[in-house]
Amino acid sequence: MPATPAWPPASTPRLFLDQPLSDGALLTLDGAQANYLANVMRLKAGDPVRLFDDRTGEWLAETNDAGRRSVRLRITAKLREREAVPDIWLLFAPLKKDRLHYLIEKATELGAARLQPVLTQRSIVDKPNPERLRAHMIEAAEQCDRTALPELADQEKLTAVLANWPEDRALLFADEAGGQPIASVAPGAAAILIGPEGGFTDEERARIRAHPKAVPISLGPRILRAETAAAAALAAWMTLYGDWR
Ligand code: SAH
Repeated sequence: MPATPAWPPASTPRLFLDQPLSDGALLTLDGAQANYLANVMRLKAGDPVRLFDDRTGEWLAETNDAGRRSVRLRITAKLREREAVPDIWLLFAPLKKDRLHYLIEKATELGAARLQPVLTQRSIVDKPNPERLRAHMIEAAEQCDRTALPELADQEKLTAVLANWPEDRALLFADEAGGQPIASVAPGAAAILIGPEGGFTDEERARIRAHPKAVPISLGPRILRAETAAAAALAAWMTLYGDWR
């Protein structure tokens, strides 16, 4: 059935497939994706599914058959092109499991283009599991209608991040010790840096502020939890310079 404004219905399941999609393609899904479609969403032959691949955009597929262990789909129409993602990165000190899950999910919903864990002196988590972070990111992208995934960069030490910083990108350093209002920042490619639960050390603060591309920003007079600060800073940036206008 061709896509029209009323079709597919809002309740249509939406999945990320890590393979290039094309019109007329026949796909066989198994494992967790088959389980989700067949057993959770109780998909039947003829039911629609929306698929995106972070490459070509979003497609409408039709269910050929939905078995408990494998589901076969056929792509029948292109729904959308892969969207242009606002050029904002989020760098964050790794947090404890649930708070890190929240941060990854909110950063994806809020439209970040790139996510990178940054090891700081007071980080209490040493190395979050990249596969788990990627799974949270994909789930959030499926839910929030993104057709482009954020890039998930490998964790790096703060010193290395600063040493290799791209000279065309502002580093908006969320400094709980104070900074300028985010609205006073010049538009353009940017990154937001959020510290760990324990904050930045004075040595780190001085090192970041000494960086030519660093712009200390304040997120108001209250001390926000790191995951709150990440979401708040992204929301402010989206309002001023992103795709919320
Ligand atoms: N334990 C520290 C706070 C750390 S909050 C203290 O009590 O001072 C975790 C991170 O969130 C901070 O490193 C900073 O990046 C960000 N953050 C929290 N509140 C902020 C604010 N009002 N302005 C700017 N950044 C803030």
